[in-house]
Amino acid sequence: MNNRAVLFISDLHLDPARPAITGRLLEFLEQPAQQAEALYILGDLFEAWIGDDDDSEPGQSVAAALRRLTDSGVPTYFLHGNRDFLLGERFAAASGIRLLPESVVIELAGESVLLLHGDTLCTDDVEYQAFRAQVRNPAWQAQILSLPLTQRRMLAGQLRDTSRQATQQKAVDITDVNLAEVDRVMRAHGVQRLIHGHTHRPAVHDGWLDGQPARRAVLGDWQEQQGSVLRCAADGWWLEPLPSVR
Ligand code: MN
Repeated sequence: MNNRAVLFISDLHLDPARPAITGRLLEFLEQPAQQAEALYILGDLFEAWIGDDDDSEPGQSVAAALRRLTDSGVPTYFLHGNRDFLLGERFAAASGIRLLPESVVIELAGESVLLLHGDTLCTDDVEYQAFRAQVRNPAWQAQILSLPLTQRRMLAGQLRDTSRQATQQKAVDITDVNLAEVDRVMRAHGVQRLIHGHTHRPAVHDGWLDGQPARRAVLGDWQEQQGSVLRCAADGWWLEPLPSVR
């Protein structure tokens, strides 16, 4: 990878049941990420996050690896996904990452680029948007975080099963972004560039917005056999698989 590239990843869905993906991330943070100008994690780093007071794996080893990266001078940013929205300041302090708001515009090679997890773009999924409004409510979150860890762990398992069943029953286009909403959000932020994850449909879409060239990069999810990283450098945006290192 080029020096001075800014790297973007999302949707690793790290889970103790799939340690190979955590291993892949640890190697990524050890090597290519060390050469980066900055690293952005755009949500769903973890399959579930029940609070920073949960010191089980893979949270601990990921925090330690992120700490090594940030200590070595690579600024690392995190934006919440629909799985790890409870990740908080305590994890950020331990790992050295900086928490971003749910939508943020950054400057990349002189261009304004909007960053999102991507779930807010799926406006056709009315049921999910109602659920999102509930779980992003600070009062709801405070109430959940006040429960004992064992109870939170059970609740996370239930939420995951419900989400899995709901996604299986929905038509494919309902779980993708709504393109009118994409245009609306880009206009609202005054950008021609957008990077998001969530849909697990990795691609760089080049098109037009209000007569100007527009670009939307969708990050890929990580699998046991392959990771996915968007590399933004002076020579362009490149969506790259991370080949198996073993
Ligand atoms: Mn997601």
